[in-house]
Amino acid sequence: MGLALFATLPAFALAAPKPAAPLRCPSDPVTVQVLGSSGPIAEGIGAAASYLVRIDGVPRLLIDAGPGSFLRFGEAGATVATLDGIALSHLHADHTVDLPGILNMGAFEELGPRLLLIGPNGAGRFPGTTDFVRGLVSRDHGAWRYLAGYLDGEEGSTQLDIREVKADKQDDPPKRFAIGSDIFLTAMPVHHGDAPSLGFLVEAKGKTAVFAGDQNDESEAFASRLAGKKPDLMIVHHVIPEGPGQPIGLHRSPTSLGELAGEVAPRRLVLAHNMKRSLDRLNEGIAAIRVHYKGPLVVAHDLDCYGLGR
Ligand SMILES: [Zn+2]
Repeated sequence: MGLALFATLPAFALAAPKPAAPLRCPSDPVTVQVLGSSGPIAEGIGAAASYLVRIDGVPRLLIDAGPGSFLRFGEAGATVATLDGIALSHLHADHTVDLPGILNMGAFEELGPRLLLIGPNGAGRFPGTTDFVRGLVSRDHGAWRYLAGYLDGEEGSTQLDIREVKADKQDDPPKRFAIGSDIFLTAMPVHHGDAPSLGFLVEAKGKTAVFAGDQNDESEAFASRLAGKKPDLMIVHHVIPEGPGQPIGLHRSPTSLGELAGEVAPRRLVLAHNMKRSLDRLNEGIAAIRVHYKGPLVVAHDLDCYGLGR
């Protein structure tokens, strides 16, 4: 019976799956695309934290690579070959799990000789970014040691140029990097519990985007370092709702996100890293943010893409 049914299936039922068409970003010179708008729990809302910065439509900088972002990277039409840099805000799994998948993808492409990888130093329970990458791909003990060329450059492989930023104290000085010739990324230490963590300011073609990363309200230096920048976009992480019982040692409440946005005054504020618990109380959260920030505000979905203006 099963066989007979199979035999009568129309031919198109056996066709090979087709990849989704790459999703288009606005034609602005600088765009920011959300690859993962949620995490760390798989709640059917989206992939975990990850963002792609495009210049003239070309993906050039990947920020974080949370679980699920590998799939979105492909759906966004991105390739590793066009990237000049990858920046990791911190080394929690919900920001880094898909990095090996993306490096593995790069092994199938023609890459340049070096790829910049920026991330925090180590402290306590967290390795520094160099040790973290060694744990993934070092020739002696890496989990994916067959990708060791990313560390030692053997067999003509692209080498990761790993730069650690001291971030175990939020008053550690910011560090500025050139990503290719036309993107400048400033890594700024923020407070995220015991995980050395960074927020990022990205400047390109006269446009500015801020990726606040995971931070709590003790990250006082962050806003003052952005004074006068008037960013075109700021992405903040809307992980917790207002009220007691939330992990405020790790994250800002909506009131605190509003205070940050009020001080930094971005032209557009994006709520990402959304969780069910924060979205269930979205109206209350937005009202709390609105006390301090009156500008345009959007809630991110995977693959949303924002133009930074002309
Ligand atoms: Zn996180």
